[in-house]
Amino acid sequence: MKEVRVPFVDLYAQYLNIKDEIDNAISTVIKETGFIGGKHVSSFEKSFANYQNTKHCISCANGTDSIEILLQAMGIGSGDEVIVPAHTWISTSEAVSNVGATPVFVDTHSAYYSMLPDHVEKKINAKTKAIIPVHLYGLPAPMREICAIAKSHGLKIIEDCAQAHGASIENQKVGTFGDAASFSFYPGKNLGAYGDAGGITTNNDQIAEKARMISNHGQQGKHNHLIEGRNSRLDGIQAAILNVKIKFLNQWNEQRFIAAQKYNQRIADSNIKVVTPSIPEGYKHVFHLYVIQVPQRATISQYLDQHGIQTAVHYPLPLPVANCYKNKSNLNEFPNSISYQQNILSLPIFPEITDDQIDYVVEKLKAALQSF
Ligand SMILES: *Cc1c(COP(=O)(O)O)cnc(C)c1O
Repeated sequence: MKEVRVPFVDLYAQYLNIKDEIDNAISTVIKETGFIGGKHVSSFEKSFANYQNTKHCISCANGTDSIEILLQAMGIGSGDEVIVPAHTWISTSEAVSNVGATPVFVDTHSAYYSMLPDHVEKKINAKTKAIIPVHLYGLPAPMREICAIAKSHGLKIIEDCAQAHGASIENQKVGTFGDAASFSFYPGKNLGAYGDAGGITTNNDQIAEKARMISNHGQQGKHNHLIEGRNSRLDGIQAAILNVKIKFLNQWNEQRFIAAQKYNQRIADSNIKVVTPSIPEGYKHVFHLYVIQVPQRATISQYLDQHGIQTAVHYPLPLPVANCYKNKSNLNEFPNSISYQQNILSLPIFPEITDDQIDYVVEKLKAALQSF
């Protein structure tokens, strides 16, 4: 087997740094047999609401459910349209379809990768009920502009914060601009559990109450089923792990940011022609992913792989081109998303990545670019 010199992410390295606390958290839950719900879940909800400075946090099973539950809690369903970016992980649009509504795609910015506010405005009609901006790769979407549009048309905003825990615009955290926010705590996310986990935050009491009921079989209190809901709960072990990890979230985001700065610097120093990430003034990027644009991506990623460097593409196809949507899409509407999709490449980034690893990646990236 080829030796991996720079893994794409290294969750084991992170575990080793906090091993005692994690092991203790897991064995405590087992001893208490607090497997579903319980005090670790409530305390994580409190800590995360506190981190976001929101009134409510409702935990659930994963970050796809959290979008679906929010759409349901807002009464969005059959006959309704929800505007989503063309370039995102499929959860964003899938959740819309799963509640019976229609996802309407808009093109994204060629340097920031987030939805274009003027394109959002053009898609609004009488059926439009909500907008789901995605803070992709850890960079906030242009929330001031999107909020202004939503307000003038009376639309709801659900922020998809799955990749952006801790990101902000002028010190206001993402997730606090819209009516509610969805978070994923999938293991590889900036705050990740050791399995699937998700959460909702909001300051709106009605949305919170409804979301909590929906995620737990429509119950308000035990056996009082006011509506039909679903089973989407956070389990005790995951909550106990998240309680340990949330303490390190700011520090890990800082380490990611420093790693990204090092990549930028090394790439600039080596005089190679790749497009590095851009950040608008006042925006705080938390670098869930460090995405560059390169020519001949397949050749480059293969070269890096042969030298023990794992890379990835987020994502190889814009959603309107995916098999499940392409019959309904007018592909001329997404020139930016379709064009940069040929060139985007995600380099390894995680809080524990070393200077030597970054140097090695950039050295091999340079060699790859010189090989053709
Ligand atoms: C990871 C992710 C989700 C969904 O999260 P899961 O917990 O995997 O369901 C939603 N949106 C985006 C943009 C994501 O990256």
